[in-house]
Amino acid sequence: MSDAFRSAVAGPAGRMEYSHLPQTTQSFENALEKARNGERLTVDDGVELLTTGTGSAEIDYERKEKVLRIADRRRAETVGEEVTFVANLNNNVTTACNTGCQFCNFKNTAEKFESTHTGDHGGFTKTPDESRETVRDAVERGIYEVCSVSGLHPGLVLDDDHAERLEASDRSDLNYRSPAAYDVDPGTYCEQIEAMSVDGVHVHSMTPEEAYHARRGTDWEYETVYRRLRDAGLDSVPGTAAEILVDEVRDVICPGKIGTDEWVASMEAAANVGLPMTATIMYGHVENEMHRVQHLDVIRDLQDRTGNITEFVPLSFVHEQTPLAEHGVVESGASTDEDELMIAVSRLFLDNIENIQSSWVKYGDAQGLKMLNCGANDFMGTILSEEITKRAGGSYGEFRSFEEYCDMLSAIGRPPVERSSDYEQRRRVDPESDRIGPRLGPRADGTPLVE
Ligand code: SF4
Repeated sequence: MSDAFRSAVAGPAGRMEYSHLPQTTQSFENALEKARNGERLTVDDGVELLTTGTGSAEIDYERKEKVLRIADRRRAETVGEEVTFVANLNNNVTTACNTGCQFCNFKNTAEKFESTHTGDHGGFTKTPDESRETVRDAVERGIYEVCSVSGLHPGLVLDDDHAERLEASDRSDLNYRSPAAYDVDPGTYCEQIEAMSVDGVHVHSMTPEEAYHARRGTDWEYETVYRRLRDAGLDSVPGTAAEILVDEVRDVICPGKIGTDEWVASMEAAANVGLPMTATIMYGHVENEMHRVQHLDVIRDLQDRTGNITEFVPLSFVHEQTPLAEHGVVESGASTDEDELMIAVSRLFLDNIENIQSSWVKYGDAQGLKMLNCGANDFMGTILSEEITKRAGGSYGEFRSFEEYCDMLSAIGRPPVERSSDYEQRRRVDPESDRIGPRLGPRADGTPLVE
């Protein structure tokens, strides 16, 4: 299988045969000058900065430092010195999925979740009641946001209307199976959103890929889907499932997922019904620097049209225990230099997105803090539980208390600020307080999330 997969995705020399390569007609010096002057960068400019010059295959450390310094200055001019974070919970509904993305270990083939299957599948599905209980506990602890991203369980549908249409359909290509066939019924997407919407807590859920799953087999517009979800309690949309928004890369790492155009259409629809959203990139696998900057270009265009993207989140690929690593297609993720340049060029290229996130889950604490001097200004969230990264081999823990945030940010001389999901509410956290906990959530009173 390893050889078959490799030969399907790689050329004879083991390199991907792509039509988009990191080659430009720009020079590094010109691109740097444009960045320094705050001019809008082209894709070629971005590639020159990301590679520290395409004339050499190696990263030039002096040039890298120049890019990081300019990005850090741009961060300071755009959002100042404050570092934000949100008190949040991850509540993923199910690990059942049969999409087969090559970078993902957060899945257990959905057939194993059927009632007739014997043996432990090692995953989970939550009913809406179970989700409600998990969220209720976290709301009482003081969270502001629940973030929910799940596998594409064949029994999950948008609502009863959607279920009726899929039950009546004789198509076999819809990735649908009646929830009655499974050991646990996940309910519908709308029921899950409604259940998680405890006391008005902010519900951040329904990626473009999930929205596609929630309209499969119908001719509904994405706006119809997002409007129904919004009415059920959805507050904002995670722009994940983006990976790399260049189809020749998606064809390799996630051929079962929607293409770039569909992803953009779904996000645009979410914006059209008034939902704020985030955007991400997952880099450091089989793509090259041209793909990374083309991805940034798609995001910047989307933001020019919508203005609804509140933050951009670069996610460094965690390769351990993924099919890409198991099949020998990748041996590592991005290097630290590449990570720093990705943050910096995101800041410089995305001149219309205010907030760039440093993910401590992906980078670890020390490097995560360093990213706050490379162009990032947001340090993610508390994450009361975080299955996705753990199951893909991440090793940086699952929870950050407010006290830890204060200690870490004080160490680099930056003010800690609790934020709402949409960044509209901000509150400086006083590290000297004897009750260092969240205060923005519906039940938050300054008590630590975990005693
Ligand atoms: S990335 Fe999402 S859609 Fe792809 S296999 Fe993993 S859970 Fe399924």
